[in-house]
Amino acid sequence: MTHSTPAIVILGQGSLATARRLQQVYPTALIHGLGGRVEGADRVYREFGATLRELYQQGTPIIALCAAGIVIRTLAPLLLEKGAEPPVLAVAEDGSAVVPLLGGLGGVNGMAREIAAAFEVAPAITTSGELRFGTCLLNPPSGYALGDLEAGKRFVSDLLAGHSVRVEGAAPWLAQAQLPEDPQAQHSIHVGSAERVATVNELLIYPRSVAVIVASAAEDLPERIRAALQEAQLALPALACLVAPQAQMACPVLREAALALAVPLRFVASAIDLETLARSAVPEGRLIACTQELMIAVAEQPLQVNLIGRPRGRLAVIGLGPGAAELMVPAVKAELARATDVLGYETYVRMAGPFREDQVQHCTDNREEMQRARHAFELAAQGRSVIVVSSGDPGVFAMAAAVLEALHESDDPAWHNVDLQILPGVSASLATAAQAGAPLGHDFCVMSLSDNLKPWSIIEKRLDLAAEADLALAFYNPISRSRPWQLGRALEIVAQHRAPATPVVLGRDIGRPGQTLRITTLGALTPDQVDMRTMVLVGSSTTCTFPRSDGGEWVYTPRWYGEKPGT
Ligand code: SAH
Repeated sequence: MTHSTPAIVILGQGSLATARRLQQVYPTALIHGLGGRVEGADRVYREFGATLRELYQQGTPIIALCAAGIVIRTLAPLLLEKGAEPPVLAVAEDGSAVVPLLGGLGGVNGMAREIAAAFEVAPAITTSGELRFGTCLLNPPSGYALGDLEAGKRFVSDLLAGHSVRVEGAAPWLAQAQLPEDPQAQHSIHVGSAERVATVNELLIYPRSVAVIVASAAEDLPERIRAALQEAQLALPALACLVAPQAQMACPVLREAALALAVPLRFVASAIDLETLARSAVPEGRLIACTQELMIAVAEQPLQVNLIGRPRGRLAVIGLGPGAAELMVPAVKAELARATDVLGYETYVRMAGPFREDQVQHCTDNREEMQRARHAFELAAQGRSVIVVSSGDPGVFAMAAAVLEALHESDDPAWHNVDLQILPGVSASLATAAQAGAPLGHDFCVMSLSDNLKPWSIIEKRLDLAAEADLALAFYNPISRSRPWQLGRALEIVAQHRAPATPVVLGRDIGRPGQTLRITTLGALTPDQVDMRTMVLVGSSTTCTFPRSDGGEWVYTPRWYGEKPGT
């Protein structure tokens, strides 16, 4: 996950230089600039409050270059809710002050120190324990887990009140801290993976040094794992990951167990027995046989989970929506943040960006769809997190069907084991309809007028029947240089069933810079008003228009048909 990459949020052009200096501290962080005020940001946002709250709720660390008060007031409504609290900092526009506001346990003070060091100022750290000891005892580094937060707070208060402390077990990160250490102290910090009930004056910290190897998954897996750990007298927070053979990659029980235990799931090559499997995952570990399916490996140090086998690969086919960032669904935004590889037609990949340096972009020509789909599976089968980008919705004349076709044709188990997700987007017909009113407010028919992948005769037949059935019509791919006459012929067919006054909506580049929306009629429509970036919506016999106060026109198709109900 990339959640530790902060977002830098700025409100005015005057902050851009400081934001760029922050980017030197966090090279993968993106600068979010207010639309209309900031030129040259990495991302443009419209509404400060909504943007900040969305970032916060996604758990993204926030560095806002503005007054602390603005940030506090904006996030205040969210603070009563329980949940993850990402680091939030306010930084003065000129970099002269760095104020950690929220996320004490998420490492906000550490960030404040890093930024302040780069800006050569003193961070405004107000956390007593942190000030006194130079570390947040309640926020051990990755690879370690705190036992109990409430007990931990009491423990830190005791130390602040003057108690001394001793450290039991290996705590390399505390070597830098200024703790009041005394080998005879009553208070102790205990670091170890064994299950232990904390005594009154003890702070427990668990190294994540335990892996559970699962040969085959049965129901109740989380309970079995908990029981096995308990039997081996190991603490649950010391569990670093689950490991399973690659053949089990698509097993839903494993996936759910890893979610329930909140640990990553890694896969290693299948082996003849459980011990060999465990050895290949944690070569240096002490092995404890539990049941026929479960074995525990305990290492001396926290495990480097990323180096154990590999994760299940993921392939997400996403829809960007028509273009504007506000019309992209949050699930797609989250997927873009976690991706390691992005594939797609260059225009769409650019629209989905910017990407971090560690994210690989594979741009291809628009027509190489099957090749792109296969390439995506090859990457995902290696354990990468791959995105295939479409505009609008990926299932509407776009990549989702190509990706499924590639999978259907393949008998490679590694491809079938990939975690495949299709994430929807706002399709061009719906985005265009929304701007015009509700022209698709009743039954409608969606067609691509492209005869690249289907014979023109079938298009004519469908047009004829859909027009006869009095469905409103949405035409994708209405015209192109290689298909110059087809739209004219299509309109002739529709005109055989529909009056010249029938409302028509033309949406061009909807949701993108320079978008245009035009309302006309079937009788007045000519193919030269349409290009390949246009969506054509043709009304049914009931579609009507009326003036809107800004001088334009509303178009809608009533929900009823025949006689209006209740009249
Ligand atoms: N998957 C896309 C459609 C791809 S087909 C979707 O769901 O929207 C490409 C056609 O979609 C274009 O020829 C055009 O007719 C239409 N289109 C795509 N984006 C558009 C936009 N922003 N404005 C208007 N039409 C668009």
